[in-house]
Amino acid sequence: MSTAEMSETQIKVKLPDGSSRSVNSGESSAELAKSISQGLYRNAVGALINGELLDLYTPLKEGDEVKILTAKDPEAIELLRHSTAHVMAQAVQNIFPGAKIAIGPTIDDGFYYDFEIADHTLTPDDLGKIEAEMKKIADANQRLVRYNIPDVDKQLDEFRSQGEKFKVELLTEHRDHNPTLYLMQDKDGKTIWNDLCRGPHLPSTKDIKAFKLLKVSGSYWRGDEKKEHLQRIYATAWWSKQDLEDYLKRLEEAEKRDHRKLSKELDLFSTHDEVGPGLIFWHPNLATVRDCIETYWRAEHRKRGYVFVYTPHIANEQLFAISGHLENYSENMYSPMDIDGQPYRAKPMNCPGHIMIYKSKLHSYRDLPIRMAELGTVYRYERSGVLHGMLRVRGFTQDDSHIFCTPEQLEDEIGGIVDLIESLMTTFGYTYKAYLATKPEKALGSDEEWDFATKALEGAMKKRGMPYEVDAGGGAFYAPKIDVKLFDAIGREWQGPTVQVDLNLPDRFDVCYIGQDGNRHKAIMVHRAVLGSLERFVGGLIEHYAGAFPLWLAPTQVVVMPISDRHADEAKKLVALLADNDIRVQLDERSETVNYRIREAQVQQIPYMVVLGDKEVEAGIVAVRHRRGGSLGTMKPEELLAKLKEEIRTKESI
Ligand SMILES: [Zn+2]
Ligand SMILES: [Zn+2]
Repeated sequence: MSTAEMSETQIKVKLPDGSSRSVNSGESSAELAKSISQGLYRNAVGALINGELLDLYTPLKEGDEVKILTAKDPEAIELLRHSTAHVMAQAVQNIFPGAKIAIGPTIDDGFYYDFEIADHTLTPDDLGKIEAEMKKIADANQRLVRYNIPDVDKQLDEFRSQGEKFKVELLTEHRDHNPTLYLMQDKDGKTIWNDLCRGPHLPSTKDIKAFKLLKVSGSYWRGDEKKEHLQRIYATAWWSKQDLEDYLKRLEEAEKRDHRKLSKELDLFSTHDEVGPGLIFWHPNLATVRDCIETYWRAEHRKRGYVFVYTPHIANEQLFAISGHLENYSENMYSPMDIDGQPYRAKPMNCPGHIMIYKSKLHSYRDLPIRMAELGTVYRYERSGVLHGMLRVRGFTQDDSHIFCTPEQLEDEIGGIVDLIESLMTTFGYTYKAYLATKPEKALGSDEEWDFATKALEGAMKKRGMPYEVDAGGGAFYAPKIDVKLFDAIGREWQGPTVQVDLNLPDRFDVCYIGQDGNRHKAIMVHRAVLGSLERFVGGLIEHYAGAFPLWLAPTQVVVMPISDRHADEAKKLVALLADNDIRVQLDERSETVNYRIREAQVQQIPYMVVLGDKEVEAGIVAVRHRRGGSLGTMKPEELLAKLKEEIRTKESI
C-alpha cells in the first residue's frame, strides 16, 4: 500500500497527553483503546470527544481530541446512571407491560424515570421486584447499541401501535435532529428492547452492578399539572457496592438532618395551607437563632463601615420598569395590586430601593464608598413543585448590601467583601470554594467594562489568597461575579455568598457622583449577599448542625434542674444570675426524675444542664452536664457563668 492510500484510510486523533495516534477511518474510541492497551480496552466505558461525553463506539474524525473514560473518571458516572435508567425502564415494562415511558434524566447522585402505569400505583414492594428484574437484565450483559432512525414516520407508527404516546410526542419534536434509538441486544445481536434516546450510554450492561431504587413520587408529563399524571421512580447507581453503601449511609445521615423533620422535633418553623406554600413562620426557638445571627451580622458590618437602611416592601411598578425587572424578571414577580389607580408590585429585589436612597442627594467622590446594608425582605414567584421547606420559598429576607464607589475603589471594596465572607463562613463552620463567573455570550456593557470589573473581582481574591476557579461564561448578563459554594458538616454543597459588579443599573438609574474634576461620573455599584436568604441559610444551618446549635445560637442555652423542692430557691437564684447576664436559661422544676429531665433536655439539644441537690446547695456549687460531653463535674456559679460567656464570645461549636 502506498503512503497516499494509507493517509486516505487512516485518521489522526489527539490524546489528553498531547500525543497523536492514528486509527482507521470509521473506527471508534473502542479500537483506539485497544490499540493503546488491552487493559484500557477492557475498562473503557465511554469517551470525551472534543469535550463532549459520547458512546465508546462513536466513530472518530480527523483531529478529534479523545479522552477514553473508565470508571475512574468522574465524567463517566453519568453514563452508568443514565444506562441504569434504561435498564430500570426495561424492567418496569417487563413487570407492567402496559407502562408507558416518559423521560429518565440523571440528577445529582442518581437518576429518575417517569412512567404512566394505568390502574396501578407503585409501592415499595414493587421497587424490590423491579430491582430484581433489573439485576437479571444487567447480568445478561446486554449491549446498548445506538441506532439512527432511518424512517421517522415508520418509527412513529410503531410507537403509536405500542401506545407509547410520550415517545410519539418527543420523536415528532426531534424528527429533524437525527433522532436515535438505543437497542438493547443480547449476545447473539438480537434486539430485546429499545428506547428513544440521544445517549450516550455504556457499551453494555455488564458494569451495572450497584444500584438502588429509592422512592416513588408523583409527577406530570413535562412538569405541567394539566397534563398526564405520571409516577416517578428515583434511583441511584454507583460503580461498586462499597460506593453504593457509602452513599446510602450519607443519605440516611442527610435524612436524619432534614430541617423539616428537625423542625417538628425542636419546634422551629411552620408553613400553613391557609396561608399558602413557600411562606415561612419562624417560631420562637428559630426566631431566637435568627436574632442572634442578625445581631452578629450587624456588628460585623458596622465594624466594616456599612450603614443600615430599611426600604418598603411594595413600590409603584414604574420603579421596576426603570430597573428593567419588568422586562427581564417579570416571571418571578407577583401581579400588580391597584393603589389609587396605580399598579404596585411586591419587590423581588432590594437594589432599586437602595438606589433611591443613594439618589436622594448629590454625592461627591469624598462621600464614597457608601456601603448600604439591609436585611431586606423580597417576594419571588417559584413554581409550587420546586418549593422545599425553608430552602426554596416565595418570601425571604436577604442580607443584601450595595456598595457605591469609584472605579479606583472597586478592588479594595471587593477585597473587604472577600474578608467578610471568610470571617462569617468560618464562624459558622463551613468550608467553601469560590468561582469567578465571567462574561456570558449574551451580555450588556462593553468589553472594557467587563474586563475592568472581572479583573477587580479576580485581583481582590488573588490579593487575599482566596483560592478560586474560573466559571467561564457563568456571569449574569449584566455582571461578572464571585459565587461561593459552601460545604456543610457532611460534605454537601450549598449555594453561598455572591458578589456582583453591576454594569447595568448605574446606567438605568443614572447613578453618579461628582469627581475631583467637578464633573459627573458614573458610580460603580456592587451587589453582595453573604448569607443569601436568611430562610435558606438558617434552613441549611439546621442541617449543618443537625439541630444542635452552638451555644451562641442555641434557643435555650442552659436548663437548671433542682433535684427536689428544697433546692428550688437556690435554683431560682442561679437562673436569675444567668438571666441577668443575658444567658437564655430555663428552670425545670418538674417532679420528674433528674435522669428523665436530662434526657429531655438532650433531645431538645440544650447545650448545658445544671443540677442542684443537697451536696451542691450545701457547698455553694453546681453540677454541670453538657449535651454531648456528659458530666463536667461541679463548679461555682460564677465559674459556670464565665465559662458560658467565653464559649458564647468565641462562638465555638462544640
Ligand atoms: Zn438514554
Ligand atoms: Zn442588588
